[in-house]
Amino acid sequence: MGLVNTAFKPDDLLKLRNGNLGIGHTRYSTTGISELQNCQPFVVDTLHGKIAVAHNGELINASALRKKVMRHGVGLSTCSDSELITQLLALTPPMEELDTPDWVLEKEIQRAGWSHRSPVAFSPLEQRQMVYTVRQRCGQQLAIEAPTDADVVSTVPESATPAALGYAQVSGLPYVEVLCKNRYVGRTFIQPNTRLRQLGVAKKFGALTDNFAGKRVVLVDDSIVRGNTIAPIIKLLKEAGATEVHIRVASPPIRYPCYMGINIPTKEELIANKPEFEDIAGYIGATSVRYLSVEGLVSAVRGVTESQEKDERISSNPKTSRLGHCTACLTGKYPVELEW
Ligand code: SF4
Repeated sequence: MGLVNTAFKPDDLLKLRNGNLGIGHTRYSTTGISELQNCQPFVVDTLHGKIAVAHNGELINASALRKKVMRHGVGLSTCSDSELITQLLALTPPMEELDTPDWVLEKEIQRAGWSHRSPVAFSPLEQRQMVYTVRQRCGQQLAIEAPTDADVVSTVPESATPAALGYAQVSGLPYVEVLCKNRYVGRTFIQPNTRLRQLGVAKKFGALTDNFAGKRVVLVDDSIVRGNTIAPIIKLLKEAGATEVHIRVASPPIRYPCYMGINIPTKEELIANKPEFEDIAGYIGATSVRYLSVEGLVSAVRGVTESQEKDERISSNPKTSRLGHCTACLTGKYPVELEW
């Protein structure tokens, strides 16, 4: 276990030379905790042959499905949804009921590999251009909703950069870089505790002082989750000479957990649910903090996906035309019924 670039040694990769196909996937744990027994793929021998499953996401009806599999006498050795999927695939057709796999697909599974995405799956925007454009539009909308009397606009690199550029375009403020990022430090939000996350931030960024000393900075970030990684960045900028640091967030406050596979902390850990949120600017040490509205976010996403759909004529395919936008972690309105 570990980061891909440290977990796999050259010898491990040499062993993969036999065979012409493989499956695998790198993940951070959401439902299944980070321990060896939850590593994927799950491999089982079944009446249909050997099945290996690598999977990302969460099953919203996992507890009902766990009971179903156990009723068929199958024991589960992990708390991972992926093992559950593997065992559901292994059930024989006579036992098949609602919610078990469609065995019309059996032959496809028997071929060397099979990749499936549920028709009602939730996935972040996938195409790079689309992601970039949505983020940029979020920044433009944010500049309309939350204008700032400041000197420069900048980004918390790198995911917030398109939004910061969008903000700069609409506000007319110059875009400058205020932080340089150490690319060799991993993603800080995946660190298991606050102390490690803050240490990660301290190691991750350096201040590009000449670009902003003596100036009022608008710093655009793409989200504030717990509120403890942005605080050290603001401190860094102020210590390096920023006279004001205005935080503009290119998404609405995150208040609810995600059950669709994105790693969001518990409700209690989210800064938007804590008493400190009343004075979030004071809590993180910013001059001011403003968020994008839910309506602003939806219009930014919709504007891009609808034009994309039109361009690619996706709507001619009924399976892919059912595009929608989940806002559950922002609004608490889940697009599917939760079974717990
Ligand atoms: S709950 Fe939030 S993170 Fe999860 S799929 Fe919906 S919008 Fe995305």
